[in-house]
Amino acid sequence: MKKVTTIFASIILAVACLNSAVSPQKAKVTSQIWFENDVEVSKDIEGEIRRSLEAAVQTLTGFLVISEDVTVKIAVKVSPDFPTSCRSAEFIRIGGERGGYIYEQLFASLIKDPAKYNQKPVHIRLFINSAMLEKFWFDPDPIKRDSPLPERGKIDAVTVLLHELLHALCINGWKDSETGESSSPNGAISTYDLNVTEKSGRLYFSGPKVSKLYPGGIPLTARNYKHYGQRGDDPDLSNLLMFGDGHHHPFRSFINQLDLAIIEDCGIKVKNGL
Ligand SMILES: [Zn+2]
Repeated sequence: MKKVTTIFASIILAVACLNSAVSPQKAKVTSQIWFENDVEVSKDIEGEIRRSLEAAVQTLTGFLVISEDVTVKIAVKVSPDFPTSCRSAEFIRIGGERGGYIYEQLFASLIKDPAKYNQKPVHIRLFINSAMLEKFWFDPDPIKRDSPLPERGKIDAVTVLLHELLHALCINGWKDSETGESSSPNGAISTYDLNVTEKSGRLYFSGPKVSKLYPGGIPLTARNYKHYGQRGDDPDLSNLLMFGDGHHHPFRSFINQLDLAIIEDCGIKVKNGL
């Protein structure tokens, strides 16, 4: 596996440059963000969440091919009752047959066809666990992201929000993390699920773009297949945005080439595609 690691190290280096070199989007992307909290959250903290979330939306969409102006509508709920999580407000059927319909998330459909989906009342639902929110650190410059990280135990809000937006865009589905079978009662599968394969009891994301960068596919996290890597895997995975086996905070992560390859394999066009 040495070869893979070496290739991979060069990918990460390339991505460090890529993050600062995203060309400005011709089509304008605007975020409309509102709160439906279950608990009292100060206006200041809501303002910080909004600023970091807007930056995360700009950063992510800056990598994507978008032909017309987009307004991304995001309902945020801070609650003690939910873990931090995110998904599109709807799933749009794009193919397949009865018993195995294929869906993409509304956020992906919006990026592909803004004229058709801009008018939807809500595109993304973001849940922020209120105990986690207390640990959030808000980057003073959530776009540039080069300020020193805070003390131990704090969580970089932009890292969390980018991670969650990737779930809402495409890293989501209905497979059972153990068996790889659809756990949906009507056999639904997502564009992400289409690329998930099982090998020797482990699930891998093995879409063509990803397999080019990471031969054999990326090992997914056991019991949590909408993430990659776990302890014992290639240690480089543990520094990446969608690592699913826990980070030591403070921790700052960026969208990397593997994430972009996953997005492409899910049928969403990335600028300067792989
Ligand atoms: Zn996640």
